[in-house]
Amino acid sequence: MITRPFKSRVYGDTIIGLARAIRDGEGGFRGVALAAVSPEAFDLLGDLPNLPPGSAISINRRDGINLFRAPLLPDQLGRDLSATPLFAQALPSAPAGIAVTGPGGSLMDGESRILAYRTLESWPLVVVVGVPRAAIVADWRQDWTRNAMLVGMALIGFSWLATIVQRQVTGRLEAELALSRQELEYRAKVEEELRRWATTDALTGLANRRHFMDKCEREMQRALRYARPMAVAIFDVDLFKRINDGYGHAVGDEALKAIARTAAAALRETDLTGRLGGEEFGLMLPETDLAGAADLAERLRAAIARIAFEAHGQPIPLRISIGVAALLSEDASVDALFARADQALYRAKHLGRDRVALAEAPSTDSLDPHI
Ligand code: GH3
Ligand code: MG
Ligand code: MG
Repeated sequence: MITRPFKSRVYGDTIIGLARAIRDGEGGFRGVALAAVSPEAFDLLGDLPNLPPGSAISINRRDGINLFRAPLLPDQLGRDLSATPLFAQALPSAPAGIAVTGPGGSLMDGESRILAYRTLESWPLVVVVGVPRAAIVADWRQDWTRNAMLVGMALIGFSWLATIVQRQVTGRLEAELALSRQELEYRAKVEEELRRWATTDALTGLANRRHFMDKCEREMQRALRYARPMAVAIFDVDLFKRINDGYGHAVGDEALKAIARTAAAALRETDLTGRLGGEEFGLMLPETDLAGAADLAERLRAAIARIAFEAHGQPIPLRISIGVAALLSEDASVDALFARADQALYRAKHLGRDRVALAEAPSTDSLDPHI
């Protein structure tokens, strides 16, 4: 897509907008590359061999909207040329060739010209090179044999010129778009990086606390709206301080990574593990009731107990305690749900660690919920 020339609100310059769909290797839609080109970018007159005085080059959309003209006539940018003999008659019958200006001369400056035109292959653009009719005819009157040849050569030359202009214009447009495409891909990478950075825990690669809680919040709303089951669990590494104290913080970090890997591998695609902080982790289990969550928690506990973790040649047993809670229709917030899981975790620790405890329904009396 190529826009008409318009005034940029940012720079006050006249610019032309280019847009092209970016597709990946399989033809899937990846985005749109956008580029803004100043009409001066098309100013190729200086690059071309000498043309007789009064010659002009223009670049137009296939539908006849003028995008650029050299010499520049700023007030003519965007002019609709669709009714000229070139656009109305010559172009519909051949994508490239020779035409002449209409009876009143060029719509832009009144000059009567012979035009060589060419349609670009990869863009809906038409390049036109015009030489004043008088420049050819005057010569021809002087010596018609010599000048008949000149006219022929000139006409061939025009279309050769148009081909050069076509190559240059296409090259510039492609270069603009390639830049824009690179920038788009770079921005997508940066955004992806930022998103990862903002949502994952650096040590374990799991969801960080905020991202995990956001996901739980959303899943909880969905489960409540459709009356679907959902469960969460909190697990905490048992006597983790001893690992840190006995083998050093770096070994403690490795233990946390091993536990995170095992937990992530034990879950379904739709489940989510997050690091809530320190050696404490959360599980979000959509479409899972309390019994299902209890099964999964027990499997996870056993899987972590089987990790063959060692440091300095010594095996280090890893154990966790897990508190599990299922969503209740009266849960007002994700905090209420996690508070029950936390109470269950506290009970699992209290009962001797290395075990799973299930949350009870919230008590309506004033008994201590921890016992
Ligand atoms: P309990 O079974 O009661 O949970 O005992 P615990 O030793 O695991 O509990 P405690 O809360 O006393 O100790 C947790 C330790 O985890 C203390 C803290 O220094 C350590 N810790 C927290 N975050 C990290 C971390 O990112 N890396 C390492 N290596 N240690 C951490
Ligand atoms: Mg602990
Ligand atoms: Mg802890």
